[in-house]
Amino acid sequence: MIRFVTALIIITTNLIFAGEIALTFDDLPCNQDESAAKQMEINQKILQALAKFKAPAIGFVNEGKLYKDDEEIAKSAILKLWVDHKQPLGNHTYSHQFLSGTDAKDFQNDVIKGAAVSKKLMSDAGLKHQYFRHPYLDTGTTPEIRKDFETFLKQEGYIVAPVTVDTDDWKFNQQLLENPHNKDKIIAKYLEHTRAKFDFYKGASFKIFGRNIKHIWLLHTNLINAYAMDDLLKLAKELGYEFITLDYALEDKAYAEPDNYYAPFGVSWLYRWDFTRGKVVDWSKDPEPDNNPFIGTKSLTFTDKSRNCSIPVELYVSGESKGKAETGIVKLPVGDY
Ligand SMILES: [Zn+2]
Repeated sequence: MIRFVTALIIITTNLIFAGEIALTFDDLPCNQDESAAKQMEINQKILQALAKFKAPAIGFVNEGKLYKDDEEIAKSAILKLWVDHKQPLGNHTYSHQFLSGTDAKDFQNDVIKGAAVSKKLMSDAGLKHQYFRHPYLDTGTTPEIRKDFETFLKQEGYIVAPVTVDTDDWKFNQQLLENPHNKDKIIAKYLEHTRAKFDFYKGASFKIFGRNIKHIWLLHTNLINAYAMDDLLKLAKELGYEFITLDYALEDKAYAEPDNYYAPFGVSWLYRWDFTRGKVVDWSKDPEPDNNPFIGTKSLTFTDKSRNCSIPVELYVSGESKGKAETGIVKLPVGDY
C-alpha cells in the first residue's frame, strides 16, 4: 500500500510539475579547439546520450570552423554524424560575430556562407535547413538592426531559434579545461547549477505566464557535455521534463510574445519578455555559477537616508552581471529593512 501511495505521489508530482524542453547545441562542429578526432569523440558521446534518452536535438553550426587546421573532411563528417542520427542542423553563421557590431551586409553574407555544407547534408537527408541561432544571442541593439536582419532571415527562409534555459555550460567547460584534475567536482557543480537554473526558469515562467512554457535549452558541443550528457538528461527527466523538438517547442504561443529588449547581452527570452512586460521576476536571484573564475560577490552597505537605515547589498561582479547592472538591467536586491 505504502509503495502504491508513493508511486501515486511520484506520478501526480510529475504531472503537476511536468515540463517540456527542446535541446539545442551551439558552435558545431565543436565549441573548443581540438583535433578533428577529439571533436568527433565529443560529438559521438553527446549523440549517444541523446539516442539513449530518445531526445531530439538540433546542432547549430559555425561552418568557418570546418576549415581550420586543414581537417575539413574529418570535421564535415561530424556534421554528417548529426544528420545520420536524425538530429537536424541549423545555421549559427560562418564565423560567429556579433550582429550589432558587424556591418549589416557583411553579417548577412556570413549567414549565407555559413550554410553551404549543412544545407547540402540536410537536403541529402530530405530535411529542411531552416533554423537560425544568433551568435552570443545578440539579436540587435536597436529596433532597426533587428528589423533589417529579421527581414533578411525571412527572405532566406530562416526561423529564429530563441533560448529560455541557459545553464552556463561553457563556463564550467572552461573550468574543466583549466583544471582537468578536478573533473568530478566540476561536473558535480555543473549538475547542481543546472538544477538551480531549471528551478529558477520554471519559477520565472510561472510568474510571467502562469504556467511552465515549452522551453528551449542552450547547450554547446564541448567536453563537459560529452562527460555529463547522460546525467544532464537524467536530471531533466527527474525534474519532470519531456524532450521535444524545436519545431514543437515553438508552437508554444509564448514565442509570439513581444520582445523589446535591445542590449548587447545575450539573455534568456524569459528575461526579454519580462523586461518588455515590465518586470515581475527578480532576476538578481538568477543563479550564477559560484565556481566561475570571473565571478566574485561583493557585499556593500548603502545608507538609506530617508528610512534612516543601512541596506546590505550583494553585488555580483561577473562580467555579464556587471554589464547588466551598469545598464540598469539588473535590479539590486533591496528589500524592506
Ligand atoms: Zn555560439
